[in-house]
Amino acid sequence: MIFLKVHTLTPRGYCHGVVDALKIMRDIAHDPSIKRPIYVLGMVVHNRKVVDDFNALGLYTLDEPGQTRLKMLDKIEAGTVVFTAHGVADEVYEKAKIKGLSIIDTTCQDVRVSQTVIKDYLNDGYDVIFVGKKGHPESETALSYSTRVHVIENIKDLSTLKITSTKIALTNQTTLSFYELYHIIEAAKAHYKNLTIIEEICDATKTRQQAVKHMPDDTDFIVVVGSQRSNNAKQLRHVASQHGVDGVLVESVEDLPIKTLTTVQHVCVTSAASTPSALTKEVIDYLKTFDQNNPQPPVSHVLKTNLFKKKT
Ligand code: SF4
Repeated sequence: MIFLKVHTLTPRGYCHGVVDALKIMRDIAHDPSIKRPIYVLGMVVHNRKVVDDFNALGLYTLDEPGQTRLKMLDKIEAGTVVFTAHGVADEVYEKAKIKGLSIIDTTCQDVRVSQTVIKDYLNDGYDVIFVGKKGHPESETALSYSTRVHVIENIKDLSTLKITSTKIALTNQTTLSFYELYHIIEAAKAHYKNLTIIEEICDATKTRQQAVKHMPDDTDFIVVVGSQRSNNAKQLRHVASQHGVDGVLVESVEDLPIKTLTTVQHVCVTSAASTPSALTKEVIDYLKTFDQNNPQPPVSHVLKTNLFKKKT
């Protein structure tokens, strides 16, 4: 039998913003006083398992990639709307109120702070360059504040900006990779003199990325447990590749690349801020007993249970 050396990175998994949001959602799922139907505007976290389990408990997710939250709200006529930890634009809030919907807001405190920063700089007469993924709820909210907000994803986008103001601030989506952001900031500083930088990557994102950065030197493969839709998960994978470590992003133990696992020695495991710890534990347990001479097909039991159902 030949076993892998498995190292689990910390911190990993749920951040405080996600823990708080999921607790609120779990509570309302079991609270008969909350007006039905209950809709979640966008994925509560970018994790299919979490979304499906809440759907099964009657918290229906409206998820239309490419569609704004303002537009998705048109689909809800009555009941309760839940705003996710990613936050929403003020106009979404107003529209929900006008429609007479009950509102449950799970916006993360760190996202609120970054929203306030943008508003403060706009009020001071600045143009704001927002580094974020186009279509991400945080970028959507930033854009809703003013035509003086300019969303860019990368250094290339900088050259498309047409900002004439001399007062320019740059801030960012909370879940970016700090490596990526560092390079964009350096390029932006070269582009605009007197650029004001307000770096807003949240601590949870930073510490998870730092743990990847400081993984043991002899690591030759990393497993990131998280969704393809999770920016957070993709950034962890990106940080590892910046350090020359190959790896994979898996949603559950069943996605593990068995063939590859028979060719590596030292595997690190981490997970995104949106990944249920039960899914990560299953991956770790599997890897710890993985015999390269006799690999067994992985089966997830967690995928078959509802994570948020009340225990009876
Ligand atoms: S990743 Fe950061 S900003 Fe997003 S919910 Fe978690 S703590 Fe909040």
